[in-house]
Amino acid sequence: MRCQKCRSEASLEIRRHHAAFCATHFLDFFERQVERAVETGKMFTREDRVLVVVSGGKDSLALWDVLCRLGYQTTGLYINLGIGQYSEESQQKAAAYARSLGAPLLIADIPGEFGMGVEQFASATGRASCSACGLSKRYLFNRVALDHGFSVVATGHNLDDEAAVLLGNLLHWQTAYLARQAPVLPSTHPRLVKKVKPLYRIAEREAAAYAVIRGIDYIVEECPNSVGAKSLLYKEALNLLEQAAPGTKQSLYWGFLERGLPLIRGEDDPVLRACQYCEQPTTAEVCAFCRMTERAADRMRIRRCHEQSLSVARSSGEANRARSSNPVPPHAAATHGDLPL
Ligand code: AMP
Ligand code: ZN
Ligand code: ZN
Repeated sequence: MRCQKCRSEASLEIRRHHAAFCATHFLDFFERQVERAVETGKMFTREDRVLVVVSGGKDSLALWDVLCRLGYQTTGLYINLGIGQYSEESQQKAAAYARSLGAPLLIADIPGEFGMGVEQFASATGRASCSACGLSKRYLFNRVALDHGFSVVATGHNLDDEAAVLLGNLLHWQTAYLARQAPVLPSTHPRLVKKVKPLYRIAEREAAAYAVIRGIDYIVEECPNSVGAKSLLYKEALNLLEQAAPGTKQSLYWGFLERGLPLIRGEDDPVLRACQYCEQPTTAEVCAFCRMTERAADRMRIRRCHEQSLSVARSSGEANRARSSNPVPPHAAATHGDLPL
């Protein structure tokens, strides 16, 4: 197989484009696809300050790299979600890459700010881990962007991510989510920052190839909480289809953007107001993130109180007898103290 530009040995075949490239011309192809996404989607210009949110994985680091090379003004943001070793390693990859790029990296530290990570948010509120994690990321992307004066947030979602989410949304006819599946989500409120996905024209294996060719050291492991996630199943299903019919993912997602999205877009945007606690835009009085962290903090206080009363009870036989006949209801203790929000 030969590179279609220079006829030397090709390193990568891109079947959906009936194309093959050597490493150098693949990098050109990749840059062109990203530039095209940014320009046709009017995502941002070279005058904008772009907050690139990086997980330490191949997609977001490849995105940051290519945007820097294309001459955009970028700053990275890494969010420590408090998922043990996985978060620590991801942060190291993101920080090491920022140093090699010579670009600024902001770090938002969830355990540092809230005293617990997203898994504890999830268990305290009965949410699935991925849902608590997604909510926390969306919230912090917006809050950090606002706090630091960025007009746009760019994520590393690629074509495979978008096609898999679309398939899930179609299977369950999630029309509200479908309407938000565009690669550009404009700001619809002064405190809601524009969100863009400049890699929506790039397949996952192409992002991996870009990272490898450029020598980007990224975290290879998947998040431990994603094991068994539906989105991985949808990706596998789409990979099977793609093998048999190259271009399936692209025609599903790009076809949706061209023909599906205009049909459902007419629905009114929800009315947004400022969260009573944090002033982030929300449709309710208190935003979903503040509600989640508030409940999790309550649970934490209840548990601490419980533990304290147990240890007091254990160290005093008298107290032990008194408590077992007249236990303190945990929620009574939880009403003390202000929320740390
Ligand atoms: P995911 O939701 O894990 O599929 O990630 C989608 C995109 O969100 C990534 O490509 C990144 O741009 C961003 N992202 C995910 N995790 C983090 C994180 N811990 N910190 C900052 N950005 C993240
Ligand atoms: Zn070539
Ligand atoms: Zn809030």
